[in-house]
Amino acid sequence: MSSSSHAPAAPIPISSPPSSSLHRNTSTSRGPRRQSTSTGTSSGGLGRRPSRVVHPPMVPKILSHDEAVEALRSFLRERSSYDVFPVSFRLIVLDTTLKVKKALEVMLLYNVVSAPLWNTAEAKFAGMFTVQDVIHLIQYYYHTSSWEGAAADVEQIRLFRIREVEKTLSVPPPPLLSVHPLRPLYDACRFLIRTHARRLPLIDKDTQTNGEVVISVLTQYRVLKFIATNCRDITQYLTSTLQDLGIGTYVSPEHDSNSENQFYPIATATMQTAVFDVVHMFSERGISAVPIVDDNGKVLDLYETVDVITLVRNGAYQALDLTIAQALKQRTADFPGVVTCSPKSSLSAVFSLIRMRRVHRLVVVAGPEDSQPGRLVGIISLSDIMRSLMGNDVPLGGSGIGAVPIDRELREEAAETGHEPFTLGQSVE
Ligand code: AMP
Repeated sequence: MSSSSHAPAAPIPISSPPSSSLHRNTSTSRGPRRQSTSTGTSSGGLGRRPSRVVHPPMVPKILSHDEAVEALRSFLRERSSYDVFPVSFRLIVLDTTLKVKKALEVMLLYNVVSAPLWNTAEAKFAGMFTVQDVIHLIQYYYHTSSWEGAAADVEQIRLFRIREVEKTLSVPPPPLLSVHPLRPLYDACRFLIRTHARRLPLIDKDTQTNGEVVISVLTQYRVLKFIATNCRDITQYLTSTLQDLGIGTYVSPEHDSNSENQFYPIATATMQTAVFDVVHMFSERGISAVPIVDDNGKVLDLYETVDVITLVRNGAYQALDLTIAQALKQRTADFPGVVTCSPKSSLSAVFSLIRMRRVHRLVVVAGPEDSQPGRLVGIISLSDIMRSLMGNDVPLGGSGIGAVPIDRELREEAAETGHEPFTLGQSVE
């Protein structure tokens, strides 16, 4: 299949800084939100922050890149996670006794790729169900069952058994992370970076019942969109290039071009690669997207973990035998396309892009001046952008999204200081 048959996925280069006609949201900070009804808990006893109107920060002078970063950090210190959410939003919470197949149907119906879990018997937050869980489930069935058996089992397996799957695969279970929604957004962002988590559930306490209340889930995308929308006067000064800032993962220049993966350390696939092999890369490398390249290394498309969900939504696990080219044909029409940028793009241009459209990663390609324009050069995830804003001094836990060492490390730190900064519990059993 040629790349031209994937019209919606044609790479979209990032554009120059925003036009003045862009809408600018000035109502950046609002009072606390009403409790979601999903958990059926009363909102009466929730902690409240005094209602106030906070305007975007005033920027009196021209800033250097570093000053702009510092101004953004100050902005985040003065906001809480509540500020990131609109006045009204929907929260899907899944009961841990729900069958996986049902959970997938609900997620597709409401167009979400993750949801908090609720243990009704104990009236407790029980972790998150995410795309990574589905990827692990697929791996599990590959090792232990046939596709037919897998499809039948997914009909039956319930969400609380997901952690057994991780044990069988020897994958570290995700620590049960959460943050109070009134904690400074800056702290929550550092915690996101530190734990390699892509999302942080916001848990409040009902002061009347002392029970837990799931408020929402803070994601890297929401935080960056919030900054992009409200701090345009600051992000315009993020003039350093992605290359100079070292944001993202890049093809190693020293790597032997004759070796098996000429794009090392970037995991790539071709149109002929089987979907299952890409699923294996997702699971093994803890990544959520793989660029699809042609024989010359030109980027044709991007295959993402969310694509797998769409593919297996009806328990059609045989679909994993399809090639990427065949699987891409099943992509829904609303796929937003692959966004590309050059290593010389500025961080400011990336924020302009995030302000204008939904973007979860950028593929870095060689520019028109290169002998091979469009050649894969690197990949930039939202976590890379977050890390560049929050600073490289954030101590990192072990690798992988579900790294157990960070759990232990944070507990030790909390014991030493006598201050538990965030909630760390046991994952759902
Ligand atoms: P993500 O899984 O998209 O949150 O990315 C996590 C980290 O892995 C980031 O530092 C990315 O730069 C890097 N990354 C993302 N995709 C790939 C890939 N296909 N190969 C290698 N590294 C990747």
